[in-house]
Amino acid sequence: MGLYRIPIQLEKFVNPGTIVVRSPGRINLIGEHTDYNNGFVLPAAIDKAVYVVIEKNETDAIFLRSVDFNETIETTVADIKPAFGHWSTYILGVAAQVIKKGVMLPGFKLTVYGDVPLGAGLSSSAAIECAVAFAMNELFSFGFDRRELSLLAQHAEHEYAGVKCGIMDQFASLFGKKNNVIRLDCRSLEYEYFPLELNEFTVVLFDTQVKHSLASSEYNVRRAQCEAGVSLIQQKYPEVKSLRDATILMVNECISKEDASYNRCKYVVEEIARLQTACQDLVKGDVRAFGKEMFATHDGLSKEYEVSCKELDYLVEYVRDNPAVIGARMMGGGFGGCTINIIHKDAVNEIVTSLSDAYAKDLGKELKHYLVNIEDGTSVI
Ligand code: ADP
Ligand code: MG
Repeated sequence: MGLYRIPIQLEKFVNPGTIVVRSPGRINLIGEHTDYNNGFVLPAAIDKAVYVVIEKNETDAIFLRSVDFNETIETTVADIKPAFGHWSTYILGVAAQVIKKGVMLPGFKLTVYGDVPLGAGLSSSAAIECAVAFAMNELFSFGFDRRELSLLAQHAEHEYAGVKCGIMDQFASLFGKKNNVIRLDCRSLEYEYFPLELNEFTVVLFDTQVKHSLASSEYNVRRAQCEAGVSLIQQKYPEVKSLRDATILMVNECISKEDASYNRCKYVVEEIARLQTACQDLVKGDVRAFGKEMFATHDGLSKEYEVSCKELDYLVEYVRDNPAVIGARMMGGGFGGCTINIIHKDAVNEIVTSLSDAYAKDLGKELKHYLVNIEDGTSVI
């Protein structure tokens, strides 16, 4: 700790009464669409974060300032309500959850700045929620622990952003640990760190810069298909409460291959198992084997779960046979966003250049990329 610096954009807002908190964005190495099936995920916090400066004002007034949006908002504790689509809703959402907990929330002044790209799938929304929740907890000594703060931030996203997300993003932001991934059991919230020793390799994200409108409707369809599969399995195996409890034998036995939920359930059950294998690869220090699992995840997401898109598939296929790339897959819900790649450090520049050219030529779009390092989770700086 004490390693992170206050960004220059916030320096002028810092004074003896303020607290500054950093809360990072996240990547997910493996375990996609497993969270709402009560399975495991393998996220890590990154070196892109949201920062908040907070101070008391001894009134019930709330003053919010966004450096990035160059805007200020004023309200009072009594008037807190959602502002859907506006940056302030993530902050007010956290405040509302604190109040819901039965805690007396005084007024405050808060300034936010961040360098997590917005809407790219690195969860800038969880980063801002967790930064705010942690900062309020420090400033007013509410006494919530990190687990409680993660749930509070998740509920803020549900109610004030209208996004029914799982717990992964907020958990990863709060519990991140430098050079480690977090294996999170989405059913129990038990977690374990695994060191990600990449040595001569590094994590690179390629941003398709597309977000197809299918994303939210298809997300709901996938959830329903998984539930339908569980119902079929339950007829024979009533102890199965979610796909977490199912095996591939059960899927084969209980769901017809003609049924739309067959491929969906097959993918989820295999992905949950794949994540466990990938963690064993990390224990053995075998990052190449780990990378192969990432490609297998992509194939499952693209062909069986069918949440990829031509841009994501293009980016993965482009690097698949490159010996300098040991793993690549689409990351996040799908239909756009980023791919996550593990690439030899010496080859990064060349691949970024050639892939950007190819993407522009073949798909007519600009490619963005982010180099990410794995860092600690939320803290006061
Ligand atoms: P993602 O979480 O994938 O980045 P979302 O659409 O869920 O995308 O959240 C992005 C929103 O979060 C932004 O539009 C903005 O309202 C809010 N946000 C994120 N970072 C900041 C920031 N640095 N300052 C103000 N608002 C932010
Ligand atoms: Mg988000």
